[in-house]
Amino acid sequence: MAGAETGRFAPSPSGRMHLGNLFSSLLAWLSAKAAGGRVVLRIEDLDAQRCTRSYADRLEADYRTLGLVWDEGGSLGGPHGPYYQSRRGELYAAALEALRQRGLVYPCFCTRAQLHAASAPHREDGQTVYAGLCRTLTPDQAAQCARTRAPALRLRVPNREIEFQDGHLGRYFENLERDCGDFLLRRSDGLWAYQLAVVVDDAAMKITQVVRGSDLLSSTPRQLYLYDLLGLTPPDFYHVPLLLSPDGRRLSKRDGDLSLDVLLARCTPADIIGKLAYLAGLNPTAEPRTPESLLPDFSWEKVPKTDILVPEELFS
Ligand code: GLU
Repeated sequence: MAGAETGRFAPSPSGRMHLGNLFSSLLAWLSAKAAGGRVVLRIEDLDAQRCTRSYADRLEADYRTLGLVWDEGGSLGGPHGPYYQSRRGELYAAALEALRQRGLVYPCFCTRAQLHAASAPHREDGQTVYAGLCRTLTPDQAAQCARTRAPALRLRVPNREIEFQDGHLGRYFENLERDCGDFLLRRSDGLWAYQLAVVVDDAAMKITQVVRGSDLLSSTPRQLYLYDLLGLTPPDFYHVPLLLSPDGRRLSKRDGDLSLDVLLARCTPADIIGKLAYLAGLNPTAEPRTPESLLPDFSWEKVPKTDILVPEELFS
């Protein structure tokens, strides 16, 4: 329905944006706006050790400079605030309580070494599947362990396939027990887990489209399971290819050369958007473009489905 789509930017302010973050954000913006929709900015600053308010403000300045103007959230505020995850703990606690009341949450006392030593299968994406050591602790045993160690909290998952249709990549499924394992809802130091927070927030902020990097594709079945348990309506998901540095590695915040401060010193905002749109198949050449100018011809069909190598010369 035109006008009813709500997309979002959900950056973690743990450093300056890199091109890959910007690429996903550009596609999120185009997808929502091409449908006549809106964009919400949510700052994913759960990890207080790594995230700062000054990086969050910097992200906002970067989005504005690049013409990726959002409609609600961040320091703008709006009806579904606060838009900083660090201030939304009560909502996560309420969701946790709902899951706990259904007997689906258990304390996990495993140390890092135990997690590592347990012969859990490793997933293709490098994450481990929890072997379930603490799944069968009796309440007495758990109380005993709690005397010396604060527990993390895990969600008990069933042997169930979760399948969905990604708006860009097509059908995807995982078996919760085999491919995901009982996953974290809260860490032992009290930090809320990404999977829980993102579901609670996307639902509360009425997000209808989640556009994000394909590194998060395999998080989606866990998130869909949480939507189901919490009785929430899931958004549509569009996972976008990752950008690879010229030597074939995924871009990260450590790739200083392609971070925004370096790029903005060398290129205009329209240069950067034009080059990213070219990589996305949305600009016939790498000529400068504004985000608005890309709207009339936006189509998911043009966007590549596999990871994209950023040619060395493109941004130099
Ligand atoms: N905060 C995450 C990141 O910056 C994105 C999470 C999401 O889009 O679901 O990588």
